[in-house]
Amino acid sequence: MTDPVKQPLHYIDGEFRSGIEGHTFETLNPSTNRVITEVAEGREADIDAAVAAARRAFDEGPWPGMPVKERAGYLTRIAEIMESSGDEVAQLEVMDTGLPIKQAKGQAARAAQNFRFFARMIQDLGGEAHRFGAEFLNYTIHKPVGVAGLITPWNTPLMLESWKIAPCLASGCTAVLKPAEWSPITASKLAELIAEADLPPGVFNVVHGFGESAGAPLVTHPGVDLISFTGETTTGKTIIRNGADTLKRNSMELGGKSPVVVFADADLERAVDAAVFGVYSLNGERCTAGSRLLVEDSIYDDFVAAAGQRATGVRVGDPTDMSTELGPLIHPEHYERVVGYVDSGKQEGRLIAGGERPGDLPDGNFLEATLFADVDRTARVFQEEIFGPVLVATRFSSTEEAIELANDVRYGLAGYVWSGDLTKAHNVAQSIDTGMVWINSQNVRDLRMPFGGVKESGMGREGGHYSFEFYCELETIHVALGKHHIPRFGA
Ligand code: NAD
Repeated sequence: MTDPVKQPLHYIDGEFRSGIEGHTFETLNPSTNRVITEVAEGREADIDAAVAAARRAFDEGPWPGMPVKERAGYLTRIAEIMESSGDEVAQLEVMDTGLPIKQAKGQAARAAQNFRFFARMIQDLGGEAHRFGAEFLNYTIHKPVGVAGLITPWNTPLMLESWKIAPCLASGCTAVLKPAEWSPITASKLAELIAEADLPPGVFNVVHGFGESAGAPLVTHPGVDLISFTGETTTGKTIIRNGADTLKRNSMELGGKSPVVVFADADLERAVDAAVFGVYSLNGERCTAGSRLLVEDSIYDDFVAAAGQRATGVRVGDPTDMSTELGPLIHPEHYERVVGYVDSGKQEGRLIAGGERPGDLPDGNFLEATLFADVDRTARVFQEEIFGPVLVATRFSSTEEAIELANDVRYGLAGYVWSGDLTKAHNVAQSIDTGMVWINSQNVRDLRMPFGGVKESGMGREGGHYSFEFYCELETIHVALGKHHIPRFGA
């Protein structure tokens, strides 16, 4: 039996279309692993059609040259439409990804907020101007780069898509979105909502499909000027290589293995709350998850016991239930991968909580909230991104050791520091090699702040005006105001 969901089609040049070659693929409900619906599967020809539409909309259409206020008006309209459809969108996201409904509603609201935010932000975008002596004025203007390929992962798909689409369109670029193959439904819903806002045809396009057969042709396409990618580090490296011949501008938001450093002088109750929420929310499929818990020796045993007790209490179950805290993982293949890490963890650490499929959930991709203690820094579960509800704990005995452990992985996306001594907390935060750190805080961020990672967690920053630096070219104009000296060669 399939759930009654409209077949997701491509959205190209303002029209919903099947694939040119007629291929389709199935998307599954992670709670049951039953097929929800068939999805149009795009290949190179569909990518060509979408890029041609986006190219025309950019080169010949009104979008890039439209007054900013008018373009921002379209984005605000999209935000309003999304807000009025928030519940429906959240339910689709739950069905396709297994995100708990309470969290999916938050993500849907945040997606709408992204459109509203970038609509406002683009209107404040200014350049630089310098008077150079009395005779010259130099100034900069922002110009949209062109056609953007947006390639997204399956975790919080709608929110991450809006995080790219909103600044991309606000800048005046046009877009081809290639959503992840395990979570296609809300990308088509988003196209429907954007269509309702009546954007000029070709400004926004969606092509569904797999990485190799739809993502790769988008990356190598000579008609695409820039690629904003969120996903795994290995995929990011492939994309950079494949985009080199056409000199693509890249923004890379990649994997993470972020530390939560807890000192003995911290507010331990709040630290436990944040550590548990930070790794088990969004089903543990969160790039900024605090997945390594580093705890000071003197409180280690008590803190791990408290976190273990809370992990055992995490409510795993039906993601449509408002009280569910942890839903099923996205796909059976990903489930097997995460279970493989849990098996490694059982060899590499001491199992404190979870580690099994809940007994009352025999179907779907359900896993208990899992915690391993006494994990050595060389362990696979300490070093590798698991992207599931698995937390590993390790003790430290000095601030120096805490910093060293925090930095001893190839990733550097986020970090969390808990201490009552703010001088120490700031110093530790500044010593972690990472893009972002939260002190005595869970992952809450002002949208104006830059988002992104260092090391193998990514390149570049998005968020606030940093997104516009990616989607815009900066042109510098030098003007002579008087009769300055010009050497008269050959006179
Ligand atoms: P993935 O790399 O497997 O896939 C991401 C997207 O890339 C999908 O749309 C896929 O079809 C496409 N793709 C795959 N191969 C491609 C190729 N050769 N050319 C072009 N496109 C290709 O990642 P995933 O498993 O969907 O997502 C999970 C990963 O995303 C985790 O590593 C997570 O940390 C990361 N992530 C990072 C951030 C961040 O902001 N840093 C945010 C969310 C997720």
